[in-house]
Amino acid sequence: MTDAWGAFEARMNEQSDLGGIMGLLGWDEQTMCPPGGRGARAHHGATLAAIAHQRLVDPAYGEAIEAAAALPDLTVAQQAMVREARRSRDKATKLPEAFVRAMAQQRSTTNQAWEHARETKRFADYRPALEQLMRLKVEEADLLKGDGTRYDALLDDFEPGMRLERLQPLLGSLRDRLVPFAQTLLDAPAPDVAVLEQGFDRDRQYAFSLRVLEDLGFDFEHGRQDLSTHPFTGGTAPSDVRLTTRVWEDWLPACLYATVHECGHGLYEQGHARELWRTSVCGAPSLGLHESQSRFYENVIGRSLPFWEHYLPVAREFFPGQLDGVDAMAMQRAVCRVARTPIRVESDEVTYNLHILLRFELEVDLIEERVAVADLPEVWNARMEQYLGYTPKDDVEGVMQDVHWSEGLFGYFPTYTLGNLYSAAIREAMARDLQIDDLVRAGEFAPILTWLRERIHAVGAVPLGEVLMREVTGKPLEVDSFMTYLETKYGALYGV
Ligand code: ZN
Repeated sequence: MTDAWGAFEARMNEQSDLGGIMGLLGWDEQTMCPPGGRGARAHHGATLAAIAHQRLVDPAYGEAIEAAAALPDLTVAQQAMVREARRSRDKATKLPEAFVRAMAQQRSTTNQAWEHARETKRFADYRPALEQLMRLKVEEADLLKGDGTRYDALLDDFEPGMRLERLQPLLGSLRDRLVPFAQTLLDAPAPDVAVLEQGFDRDRQYAFSLRVLEDLGFDFEHGRQDLSTHPFTGGTAPSDVRLTTRVWEDWLPACLYATVHECGHGLYEQGHARELWRTSVCGAPSLGLHESQSRFYENVIGRSLPFWEHYLPVAREFFPGQLDGVDAMAMQRAVCRVARTPIRVESDEVTYNLHILLRFELEVDLIEERVAVADLPEVWNARMEQYLGYTPKDDVEGVMQDVHWSEGLFGYFPTYTLGNLYSAAIREAMARDLQIDDLVRAGEFAPILTWLRERIHAVGAVPLGEVLMREVTGKPLEVDSFMTYLETKYGALYGV
């Protein structure tokens, strides 16, 4: 390759390496770091982030990107590397340094106010900080938006290429079909979940999760699993992927499904083609795509009847005597219970999306300044009642339950539901090639992983998310596949 490519590549590799080191620091902070080390760790992270930012906005990097872009005969992957490097750099250069510092400061202030207000259970203790943060987010969106909307500008950080004008009707049509369907399930007799609440030995739960992780194809030569309060997938590179899970003694699904969910993320990370490593396209094209893999494994595979037909005998070995009184169908019904759960992260795969729709609609109104921060609790509670038939008993159970807005993450929530939509469309496409249920029932997960590897994991962020999904599924993003999946599965489980 030419010198121009070499110069660009060296810079791009450096950005990737700095990202990997930050990934390691972040993983350590949530798993191994002693409480007393957190202060020092915050300094390490801030210093490294500042260095990475300086290197990113360095005019020499901009010149290297443009010189590489002008080269003839770039491969498709190389063109994508240039595209992604340019995109991150353009975004970084549009925000003045003073603004970036003010935002980092305000995020930290808002986070502290949020934690404090969760203790006092008073939204009034949180409101001034959130109002100030919103002013900065509006300013940020105006700096970034170009000819799009403010929400487009924020959404682009998580779902590149997606636009509000497509997302809004898509999620609107999901809401129109999902609200009545969820109501029907919520009004039906609830399945018995007592079997999951018996109290299960922590070490055995963890050992069981490792067994499932290995069966699904997670590569322990290039990854590991540890414990953390909030499960996540991180790490430094495709060759070093770090998952975490948690163990709740009186709720069997907590550990198992956290592991299976993060495994989906981890398999994706481990599957990027070797030639993409240390480049700007070594990753998913969007958070929605990343989430499609975790939700595919957690819900489509993990909460299916064939999964329990295979794993119930295995689980009985890990928890002797505790699961003798149930069959696979009862296990599936229990892990698929649909309930009026006020907390998003504890909700089921049907109502989960109603929690997301509510947040999406509110954050669009917030950023367009159609709803004031002061009115949030009232609007939140009214919409919870409308969608779920439940009114939160306080704001901790309502508008103050998620950390996202305090972190300045607007435009993030819809990616969770996009992940669900993508996962159902992927399942449909995969079913044309594989007998998914038979494979899962037999515990043969390798063909499923190979299918995902070849079409999705290996190509990384070379194609944009929507383009990739159209190639894989043969159709544009829509809600039919997901609703059909839910209606079939829960129709059978609930007899509705
Ligand atoms: Zn996830």
